Amino acid sequence: MANMMLRLPISSTMRGFSVSASSSNGAAPSSDSGGGGGAGPLIVELPLGNIRRPLMRTRANDQKKVKELMDSISEIGLQVPIDVLEVDGTYYGFSGCHRYEAHQQLGLPTIRCKVRKGTKETLRHHLR
Ligand code: ADP
Repeated sequence: MANMMLRLPISSTMRGFSVSASSSNGAAPSSDSGGGGGAGPLIVELPLGNIRRPLMRTRANDQKKVKELMDSISEIGLQVPIDVLEVDGTYYGFSGCHRYEAHQQLGLPTIRCKVRKGTKETLRHHLR
């Protein structure tokens, strides 16, 4: 068929983040979403540092939740990717705060994200 997703073993994207197939900004396509059409969300592993979190300082995470997620993620991995908005090649995260912090505290280099493309107007809506 016309659309072929390159499936990377997660371990190869986690170590040193060597990207062999990328869309933009070091995003390594992993699985899911089929890659069809190009307009839908894409599931990718992004380095934590590549995701801007404009609201991070305004909301405190529940540390008990973060700890529980750290234990669970260590054991079974992230089961639900966090939602990320891509505007002009820059990634923004507004939710998934506990999962993001759990990854930070575990020292994981990347996090699995569901990336949706948006415009500057979409971004403004999120920042309101
Ligand atoms: P967040 O701020 O990250 O959204 P919540 O506590 O509101 O934190 O929700 C945690 C989310 O993390 C849930 O949607 C849950 O399905 C998801 N999740 C993904 N991976 C795991 C995991 N390994 N263990 C527990 N929950 C997980």
